[in-house]
Amino acid sequence: MSQALASSVPGRLVRGGRRLARHVGRGLLDVLYPPRCLACQARLSRARAPLCAACVAGLERAPSEVARQRLHALPSGSGTAIAAVFPLWRFDPDGALRALQHALKYQNRPRYGRAAGRWMGRALAETLSPPPEAVVPVPLHRTRKLERGYNQSARLARGVAERLGVPCRPGWLERPHPTRSQTHLSRQARWENVDGAFSASQSLDGRPLLLVDDVLTTGATGAAAARALRHAGAGPVYLATLAMAE
Ligand SMILES: [Zn+2]
Repeated sequence: MSQALASSVPGRLVRGGRRLARHVGRGLLDVLYPPRCLACQARLSRARAPLCAACVAGLERAPSEVARQRLHALPSGSGTAIAAVFPLWRFDPDGALRALQHALKYQNRPRYGRAAGRWMGRALAETLSPPPEAVVPVPLHRTRKLERGYNQSARLARGVAERLGVPCRPGWLERPHPTRSQTHLSRQARWENVDGAFSASQSLDGRPLLLVDDVLTTGATGAAAARALRHAGAGPVYLATLAMAE
């Protein structure tokens, strides 16, 4: 046995031991607290999926035509920065999607984002052809990110990118300017609030890109983000969201 190989054996054993401990630890947690569907509490076979198959099957696909109309209704043609829009599910005020969004946003469960992103990616793989060169999450301003501890759209984007087999590039888009919450603003005020909030960190050389956000309401945030990417030279910019608000 060579010197190098001999010296790497203990390191491998330690790493293997840590992996085993993690595996056993997770297994033990699953026995003590069996993973359950966020919405109906059914037991789940895979701890990393937030919802059971029946709850996922019960979600209603969002009509992309309605999303397109919302983008067209944005002030001064700003919605045209988005080449095509793909909202996955229609928002259900009392249903499974609400439970998932709530867990993602307010209950500090970022790992669900990646799993939900894979669901988005699976639907996109059927409709978005050819695939984009990279997936870019809509960023949070750093103050908001500090409050929440993570950006839920970045978690979704990672799952989408994984499923599409393309890189995820959270660093390509920045949000240097803080904005007010969009919740109680009119369509016009929402656009004014986010217009100019984003900037791209580098030249994007005609690359087709997919923006990922958690929810589409008027589309103003996605359009402002897409505009910043287009200003930096991106090719067509697509927008995918987990949910479409009423
Ligand atoms: Zn369920």
